[in-house]
Amino acid sequence: MLKLSLRLKTVFDMVPTGSVIADVGSDHGKLIISLFEQGIISHGYAIENKKGPFERLTKAIEESGFKEFITPMFSDGIKELPSDVGTIILAGMGGNLVISILKDGQEKLKNVDTIIVDAHSCIPKIRKDICDMGYAIADEKIIKEEGIFYEIIKFVKAEKAFYGDNDFEFGPILRNEKSATFKEKYQSRIKEIDNLISTSKIPTSRLSILIKEKDRIKGVL
Ligand code: SAM
Repeated sequence: MLKLSLRLKTVFDMVPTGSVIADVGSDHGKLIISLFEQGIISHGYAIENKKGPFERLTKAIEESGFKEFITPMFSDGIKELPSDVGTIILAGMGGNLVISILKDGQEKLKNVDTIIVDAHSCIPKIRKDICDMGYAIADEKIIKEEGIFYEIIKFVKAEKAFYGDNDFEFGPILRNEKSATFKEKYQSRIKEIDNLISTSKIPTSRLSILIKEKDRIKGVL
């Protein structure tokens, strides 16, 4: 069995059993190969838009022995998403890229009932924009691996979900659970803000943004 990082294992655990997935930005293919190997999916698509990663991906799929079940696609985002895909995974990417991939292929989301995102930036925007596309937040996890915090979010298709600003910023589930990792992330952000405020000459406008952020954090901790 392939060894997954904690980050990828957290994504793995959110994939609905039996779904047809597209792993967008699959790169090394470890996640999709593990999902097939462990019987979570019966087939899926591994999508890459860059030559080097696509070649690495194709080789990894061939070597896994599962090439009849995992189809590598050289394609941009979800623009050519096959219609049998019910779950999309976007992991290990910047938040703006995740949003642009989804927006550029929005008409392909018709049959997609689950979107799992592990974005490394712009997480509040990801929550808001994907909810605006007709999804609700079904699960969220915060983890720390090699000193980096990751928030992994599972969205499912929903009529209309009602969220407030704190839900988008901190996560409706995460801020309710307040796990030790969640507290650690935001306590360290408070320290960072305090350091910035006390040690550097920052413009008043920036100062007031930081003070407001600290107040919001204190409000949820
Ligand atoms: N998903 C893996 C993970 O989480 O470990 C690999 C993440 S890797 C940092 C991001 C991958 O996304 C790269 O291999 C890159 O080529 C691919 N990528 C970026 N933009 C893409 C797009 N528009 N369509 C398909 N793949 C894309």
